[in-house]
Amino acid sequence: MQTPARAVGVLGGGQLGRMLALAGPPLGLRVVGLDPNPQAPMAAVAPMVPATAFDDPQALDALAAQVDVVTWEFENVPVAAAERLARQVPVYPTPRALQIAQDRLPEKRFFRELGVPTAPFAPIGGPADFPAALATTGLPALLKTRRLGYDGKGQRWVHRPDDLPAAFAALGGVPCLLEGAVPFERELSVVAARGRDGGVRTFPLTWNTHRDGILARSVAPAPACPPALQAAADALAAATLQALDYVGVLAIELFQVGDALWVNEFAPRVHNSGHWTQDGARCSQFEQHLRAVAGLPLGDPGLTQPLSVMLNLLGRAPPPQAVLAEPLAHLHLYGKAPRPGRKLGHVNLAGPQDAVLAAAARLEAALAALSARSPDPAPS
Ligand code: AMP
Repeated sequence: MQTPARAVGVLGGGQLGRMLALAGPPLGLRVVGLDPNPQAPMAAVAPMVPATAFDDPQALDALAAQVDVVTWEFENVPVAAAERLARQVPVYPTPRALQIAQDRLPEKRFFRELGVPTAPFAPIGGPADFPAALATTGLPALLKTRRLGYDGKGQRWVHRPDDLPAAFAALGGVPCLLEGAVPFERELSVVAARGRDGGVRTFPLTWNTHRDGILARSVAPAPACPPALQAAADALAAATLQALDYVGVLAIELFQVGDALWVNEFAPRVHNSGHWTQDGARCSQFEQHLRAVAGLPLGDPGLTQPLSVMLNLLGRAPPPQAVLAEPLAHLHLYGKAPRPGRKLGHVNLAGPQDAVLAAAARLEAALAALSARSPDPAPS
């Protein structure tokens, strides 16, 4: 049996790194970050290795020298950086998970090989691919860049065949994937963890709603979820984790189509739709990820409260007292400067169902009033 790690390195110092760092000390873990931005949110709460870039070899080697294991908090870490680290210390999850998640084409193929439904899809390298792709997906369809898309960025809807050339040009003519529109009832996600011993723990299905392509609200457990749907999510998460020989927390974004779950994409890391676990589950996703990668026993993903609602604070954050006046509210700020659409923090509401829904409605109204009162701050 491997000795559990005492120090964990994290590539990336955004809010996910910050929340991982905050979960470390209670477990006896030192968490060290690496981010080229000295003002990254994690830097306020954890030691950071200075770096010129994520693939800065000296910085990577300095990180490897002071930790027992390395993980990451965002999926656009260069695979070569993860591989360089993996030659020096254990790296979890495996760099292969990063490689698949960074490109929508192998990602979709991975799920298709697992036998999981996805939108019909076709790769587009140039105009010669347009007719065959349209024949595969039908219309309407969504054109997505294969790489570097997030929060609805790098996407264009295609309603008529004539829209495709302009959509492709607007995305810069880079390699893309055309996806048929999924007739979904709602968007769900499943967050799950696999330990070094192969054990799997899955959090309850979460219902997610987006505004302008950005996650605005998560509700857990997802309402009106028959046990068969949760069982399907558990099986899908376990199959995905096993196929990737994965260690750590992973999130799978899903479309509910009738009684079936189709996969949209996965994130090889802790995920915004799992933030409610900080205040509504026995073990948060951040603690769970650290436990997994450090070789500690996995925690209990069960609920501590009947219902949790997570509201993202996008573009602007209200004064803390406005949120904290709600008795069920837990405030999580990331220490970031305001910018339109930027994730500045989130509020978790956890408790009895009716009280949580009423508090969520009050807070959402207050957030909407805040946006209406003053225009969005200028981009910084
Ligand atoms: P993504 O960047 O793939 O997570 O997509 C962002 C959002 O676009 C999703 O949360 C969905 O609301 C929507 N979306 C993505 N793919 C599809 C699709 N094939 N059909 C319908 N809606 C989609």
